[in-house]
Amino acid sequence: MDILVINCGSSSLKYQLIDMEGEKVLAKGLVERIGIEGSRIKHEPINAEKVVIEEPIQDHKKALKMVVEAIVSKEHGVIESMNQITAVGHRVVHGGEDFSKSVIITDKVMEALEKNIELAPLHNPPNITGIEACKAIMPDVPMVAVFDTAFHQTIPEENYIYAIPYEYYEKYKIRRYGFHGTSHKYVAFRTAEILGRDLKDLNIVTCHLGNGASITAIKSGVSIDTSMGFTPLEGLAMGTRSGNIDPAIIPFLMKKENMSCDEVNDVLNKESGVLGVSGISSDFRDLEDEAAKGNKRAQLALNLFANRVKKYIAAYIAELGRVDAIVFTAGVGENSPLIRKMVCDGLNFIGVSIDNELNDVKGKERIISSEDSKVKVLIVPTNEELMIARETMELVK
Ligand code: AMP
Repeated sequence: MDILVINCGSSSLKYQLIDMEGEKVLAKGLVERIGIEGSRIKHEPINAEKVVIEEPIQDHKKALKMVVEAIVSKEHGVIESMNQITAVGHRVVHGGEDFSKSVIITDKVMEALEKNIELAPLHNPPNITGIEACKAIMPDVPMVAVFDTAFHQTIPEENYIYAIPYEYYEKYKIRRYGFHGTSHKYVAFRTAEILGRDLKDLNIVTCHLGNGASITAIKSGVSIDTSMGFTPLEGLAMGTRSGNIDPAIIPFLMKKENMSCDEVNDVLNKESGVLGVSGISSDFRDLEDEAAKGNKRAQLALNLFANRVKKYIAAYIAELGRVDAIVFTAGVGENSPLIRKMVCDGLNFIGVSIDNELNDVKGKERIISSEDSKVKVLIVPTNEELMIARETMELVK
């Protein structure tokens, strides 16, 4: 059974074709600059050279047509015909309160996705466009929507309601939704497998630390709290996002800097986080290099980031009552021994201890806690595409 996984952005489309027997990636790729000059597809078939095809790609329908052509092409294809694609799994950012699980896409689902556009105005429209393009090109292939928010729909009310007038939840559905759900779920499942334990018996804190970053408390395989909120702006400091700030800073800045609401929103989303603090970069590799050379603001950004991760982990352990494993994933979580060490060294008081040699690794799945650590600490590279493919297969089987 071959499943095509699609992740559509406003001007990009990422894809993977996965053979579910053995969960093998047959091909993956990226269509970039859709609707913009210089558009191209980068296609990486298994066991063959990567190819880049540059040509005008005016919309997502054309992009998807090129993806299918690349996958079945004689020169760099991996399957013989489109009919071999059993189903398509689409990443959808926001399912609101309508979806607590992945679903087969029907007209009713499409209506609900449209309704949720106001909750994710930047992300849901391209996701919908991708689904529509797929429907046009492969009308008879079943499709599944896998939501970033769905895994967090189990969070209890006291953790998802904000302390603002309740009517705003009733009127506008303002509440914590949480994101990166597919990633948190994947690494929690994998952690149970690595530890040889039943997920039902485990309390886990998962740390998805990438350009966007969030932490989740998982009890018996179920999300009970997560750091991102109504939008992906809440919680940790991130590459360019502020994470938590005193909300009173917003009107203060609007008055002092004569900024509009949209301008402040842009500052908090695009100019803040470790980029804003360091004034150097949103990329942790640059910050680590600069800090090592003695740059104080780069060091401050790293300290601030790691400290906030540590505080969330400790708070979530308090909520869970006990923790069996802390898991690091995504770009920074998988690749930065320094950040993992800064976070874990601050958690010695609850019996977390990492082995410096085991921690000295990038992008490898492994346990990095020392023998005597009371809590297991793991690196689990995330694999959202595989999780989407698995959920798609389950639904269409
Ligand atoms: P993601 O959003 O998960 O793709 O993560 C992207 C981020 O991971 C980049 O912005 C980098 O800051 C970070 N990253 C990638 N490789 C490394 C590395 N070797 N050391 C530190 N940070 C890294």
